[in-house]
Amino acid sequence: STSTLTSTSTLTSTSAPSTTPVFPAASILGYPRIGRRRELKKAVESFWAGTIDAPALEKAAQDLRLSTAKRLQGLGLTGNGAVPGTFSYYDQVLDAAAHIGAIPARFGALLDAQGQLDISGYFTLARGTAEQQPLEMTKWFDTNYHYLVPEIGPETVFSLTSTRIVEEFSHALANGVHTRPYLVGPVTFLLLSKASDEAPNDFSPLSRLADILPVYADLLARLAAAGADWVQFDEPALVVDQVTPLPEVQAAVAEAYEYLAAVPSRPALFVSTPYGALEGLLPTLAATGIDALHLDVFKGEVPAAADLAALSGKTLVAGLVDGHNIWRNDLASSAAKLDELRKSGLTVTVSTSTSTQHVPHDVQEETQLSAELRSWLAFADQKTAEVVTLSGLLTDSPSVQPAIDEASAVIAARAAAVGVHRTEVQARLSALTSADFSRDAYATRAAVQETQLALPTLPTTTIGSFPQTGEIRAARARANKGELTQQQYQGLMKDEIRRVVQLQEELGLDVLVHGEPERNDMVQYFAENLEGFDVTVHGWVQSYGSRCTRPSILWGDVVRSQPITVEWARFAQSLTGKPMKGMLTGPVTILAWSFVRDDQPLGETANQVALALRDEIADLESAGIRIIQVDEPALRELLPLRKADQARYLDWSVNSFRLATSGAGNGTQIHTHLCYSEFGVVIDAIDSLDADVTSIEAARSRMEVVHDLENHGFGRGVGPGVYDIHSPRVPGRAEVAQLLETAVQHVPARQLWVNPDCGLKTRGYAETEESLRNLVDAAREVRAQL
Ligand code: GLN
Ligand code: ZN
Repeated sequence: STSTLTSTSTLTSTSAPSTTPVFPAASILGYPRIGRRRELKKAVESFWAGTIDAPALEKAAQDLRLSTAKRLQGLGLTGNGAVPGTFSYYDQVLDAAAHIGAIPARFGALLDAQGQLDISGYFTLARGTAEQQPLEMTKWFDTNYHYLVPEIGPETVFSLTSTRIVEEFSHALANGVHTRPYLVGPVTFLLLSKASDEAPNDFSPLSRLADILPVYADLLARLAAAGADWVQFDEPALVVDQVTPLPEVQAAVAEAYEYLAAVPSRPALFVSTPYGALEGLLPTLAATGIDALHLDVFKGEVPAAADLAALSGKTLVAGLVDGHNIWRNDLASSAAKLDELRKSGLTVTVSTSTSTQHVPHDVQEETQLSAELRSWLAFADQKTAEVVTLSGLLTDSPSVQPAIDEASAVIAARAAAVGVHRTEVQARLSALTSADFSRDAYATRAAVQETQLALPTLPTTTIGSFPQTGEIRAARARANKGELTQQQYQGLMKDEIRRVVQLQEELGLDVLVHGEPERNDMVQYFAENLEGFDVTVHGWVQSYGSRCTRPSILWGDVVRSQPITVEWARFAQSLTGKPMKGMLTGPVTILAWSFVRDDQPLGETANQVALALRDEIADLESAGIRIIQVDEPALRELLPLRKADQARYLDWSVNSFRLATSGAGNGTQIHTHLCYSEFGVVIDAIDSLDADVTSIEAARSRMEVVHDLENHGFGRGVGPGVYDIHSPRVPGRAEVAQLLETAVQHVPARQLWVNPDCGLKTRGYAETEESLRNLVDAAREVRAQL
């Protein structure tokens, strides 16, 4: 299974192409692939549903790639290799796995007679089968994009199992576009992989580097044969602090790129390092035979002159335009950075800081937004145009200065625009004192809550949402089109709440929820009801696979002009004698799942949202709601990539939650919910949230989190999930009881709550009912044994 790596010391980088092609003056690291009207989503989902076949899917993908390439050419990405070949049917990390044969043994024979992975096999890895779990999914750096985690073991057989990027290059070339093929680079690929189930405990995927390099080399040779001038290897893992010690990463980078540079016939090598400053690995990459290096100088700094000097002979691709957020570029500041970089004497070209896959396609589609707001924004097409504009500076084009001046004028106008800075919000923020961030001691509150709520041991509850049925969605769509009056729509939602409350009463749950039928999305719903936000119509971005989200835009100071959830909560509480949980989304999650203003520190924006939530909580209390849950599933997600930045983040994020919740009286039980299970790293922060009860995901990891809780001595209420809501599978009563028994062995029973892993929004009613029945029965059973 292993191929021998030719000793790198005997190879030199002089076998690179005899003349290195010129790297295009303007390029972008990547472009959204889902399509302006989500064409790819529709085609892929039709293929999954069996309504179109593989050739039809391929044709749809080809059309999309070609129209994208033509559009980018039209925007000015003209040189060979300027248009990135960043198309993917599902995910770029899966693409790399599919090309080099990193296919877990548990899937059995997925390859065809020619040893190739076809499109169905590819989707099998992403979506699993009846018997096999798909590859695990996790967050891509500090974005809301999720990639599939390759599984590598000592036995993984690497071989070229797909040549899709070669075929895509040839197809584009035949149609007049010389693209730049893209693949996740070998070091990042292995750093993002996890050890396969069969691997020994101390196995590290990075130990297989020498075995994957020949496959990358094979691809390089084929791309060269197809005529590609440039290839892009994406190495974002090099900008984050790794568990693997830095010297090991440095050695891997050196080995990988010396090896690939020495491939006899290859395209010029372009390595991209988005999402932050490259720091300690810059000299390492500089010492290899790569031809061009991208640096994120939007988020990262312009490197020191000495570091830049080491890049002599290579092209420096300056990531000046932010690919991650939607604000119009401050061209004057980018021009200044470009100037500084060019002082190094290197050949410098202009690009984006990251792929633009994290932003929607085109601001001009959002005709419902005010022209003023639109003028402040740049989506992928506008960012491409900004890159092209800035590249004009490289040839001293006279048309650049007017564009710079215009951008400066718009940025100044934005700062002065109505609603961006509001004196009443500023006044309230500056009047805050430490008392606004804390409640009475937990023990004091717990005593009051215990007598007032009178809940049994191991109280049962759910996380908030109940299944969003087709009827609910249809009603919302009709209300949006004006086919239903607001009153009719609200009547339908109230009917739904009645049903959900009745079901919970019948099941015997202890703390009820209203089911959230009136919410399209846990963030957008609040964005639509708060001032300072706007929402888009076509602004979809890929979250994972065919799943897209439409983040709201937080552009101004945040004001809650009227209560948002109170009437729904009051109505729901009127239907039951049991406590009804009020349900809010926390400040950090609202920020994490929106495009957030870049003109003030995030912590300040978070506190503005917190004050709005604080008012909402006060109104919920007045309406008789005694338990209020503030969801913060994104708390872990925004954690900075560099350890040095983490403490500051945790400080402001925790504070914003405390500001939102600490106006609550002692008798009001504040809950929070976090979606993930790997929470060891942030457990101190979770403790500092000072919520009375925290629910977390735990069923999928078979209660692993109770060890973290025990080690930490977590002293507050906690609900480790006992029902994995990510699949339609119904957990049996005995299975739930067993999870609870594990939990009570590690966490005192009086602290424990019984709940599913997360909301039930994506589930159907049949399985939900059965699962919750088992959950309630299991809680009763374990309660009786205490
Ligand atoms: N209350 C939300 C729900 O149940 C929480 C969702 C989430 O954590 N992502 O849907
Ligand atoms: Zn959740």
